[in-house]
Amino acid sequence: APLNDCPADVETLGRSTWTLLHTIAATYPTTPTVSEQSDLTNFMKLFSKLYPCWVCAEDFQQYIKKDEIRAASRQDFGLWLCGAHNEVNKKLGKPIFDCAKWEERWRTGWKDGRCD
Ligand code: FAD
Repeated sequence: APLNDCPADVETLGRSTWTLLHTIAATYPTTPTVSEQSDLTNFMKLFSKLYPCWVCAEDFQQYIKKDEIRAASRQDFGLWLCGAHNEVNKKLGKPIFDCAKWEERWRTGWKDGRCD
């Protein structure tokens, strides 16, 4: 392997993980079955325990306790996840993302054709 293939640091891990999570939201059904809803909720709860940045995981578990995971539909989960990500952005002093645009960023691509 090339010399610069290094273990992921907190930033690289974070970027890759948000990509996975928002892409799960983007491909989640608009009208999920009860079993799909419980799979997603269970996945997120287990994820919050297993995320291999322990301080991040601890804060994320606390967040899930105050703002419970919503998985009733794609919009419902996409907006919940955007809010959760914004909470981390706030903590790190990063810009707050406009959640009205989560689907453009993660599902449809920007209206100006930037992703075509
Ligand atoms: P990222 O925050 O990784 O975002 C990637 C892209 O997502 C952005 O470029 C933007 O296009 C888009 N985006 C940004 N905000 C939103 C949003 N609200 N909704 C939808 N899309 C959005 N790092 C720490 O140092 N301390 C922590 O405690 C910590 N906790 C974390 C908890 C979790 C669950 C995860 C997944 C990551 C955590 N991280 C933490 C990592 C941190 O969130 C970033 O991933 C990392 O700092 C790299 O940031 P970035 O600027 O590349 O953008």
